Amino acid sequence: MLDDNGAVRRRDLLSLIGAMAGSAAMYHAMTSLGFASESRYRGPIKLEGDPKGASVLILGAGLAGMTAALELRNAGYRVQVLEYNARAGGRNWTLRGGDSLTELGGFTQTCAFEQGLYLNPGPWRIPYHHRALLDYCKRLGVALEPFIQLNHNAFLHASRAFDGVPQRIRAVRTDFQGQVSELLAKVTKQGALDEAVSREDQEILLQALRSWGALDRNYRYNANLISAEYRGYAEAPGGGLSSAALPSEPVALSDILKSRLWRYLQNFANYNFQTTTTRIRRFRGRPRPIGASARFPCRSSASCRST
Ligand SMILES: Cc1cc2nc3c(=O)[nH]c(=O)nc-3n(C[C@H](O)[C@H](O)[C@H](O)COP(=O)(O)OP(=O)(O)OC[C@H]3O[C@@H](n4cnc5c(N)ncnc54)[C@H](O)[C@@H]3O)c2cc1C
Repeated sequence: MLDDNGAVRRRDLLSLIGAMAGSAAMYHAMTSLGFASESRYRGPIKLEGDPKGASVLILGAGLAGMTAALELRNAGYRVQVLEYNARAGGRNWTLRGGDSLTELGGFTQTCAFEQGLYLNPGPWRIPYHHRALLDYCKRLGVALEPFIQLNHNAFLHASRAFDGVPQRIRAVRTDFQGQVSELLAKVTKQGALDEAVSREDQEILLQALRSWGALDRNYRYNANLISAEYRGYAEAPGGGLSSAALPSEPVALSDILKSRLWRYLQNFANYNFQTTTTRIRRFRGRPRPIGASARFPCRSSASCRST
């Protein structure tokens, strides 16, 4: 944990933050420390100097090792990459049906996904501001796919809330937003914000709350077709024997508050995730053995071996 000077090592500090407060907090900490901040990359790097026939041995065929191998090879070095695992990519990794994985304890699992389905157990997202990585993907022909980050129809689940019944994200969000908007509209109309917000802005604020919170004309959040438009219907319009839509019943604010599910609503809006939602890194086709893919720099003039 401590280095030779008795200070906590950076990696251990970040691991502790991650373990205690979750990955989002760790990412914030990394950003604050300057390790996850926006890239200042302005274009391909060009290493200077004359290697004079020098050889370089790189340990690890993760992104860092392979990037180093590519650049050093381009600069004229003889490069060899040694990789502990039987595959390149390091933490970048895709599991498909038929793949098998033996964990550190020796437990082996075989992935039973159907054809076409896959899971990236490591990184999924490339933030738009990871400019260097995106540039390498472009230059090396690595296929990228859109990444759907937020599915309003997906569930939020807390085993101690709602008798363990999962709740749709759209319902939790709409009900929370709606009832908070109703409260804020109430105090605005009671004049509680007179000191903080001008009269003119209060008018606009009320309009905004009505729109944002799906409130009715009396600034109330209710089971009606306005809220149903966002949280979902009990009976969707136009379907079944009757074409009349039936609104669904909102969850009470107290239940949402106690469920703590509101903690997860901002997950999807997190800067580091939100701005990353457009791409997912993935190599085209099935991953091939190390050295067999033209996209990995550890092919051709640089060699790459499993150790
Ligand atoms: C679950 C998870 C989710 C993540 N999500 C994202 C994300 O969405 N977006 C993002 O940008 N980043 C994400 N990351 C971070 C990202 O995966 C890493 O920053 C990146 O892969 C690090 O690359 P690397 O080459 O430095 O290290 P690694 O990928 O760890 O590669 C190191 C390689 O070195 C090998 N090795 C180690 N020691 C030796 C040795 N002595 N001899 C030979 N080989 C050795 C290892 O086997 C490995 O292949 C995520 C990470 C994890 C674990």
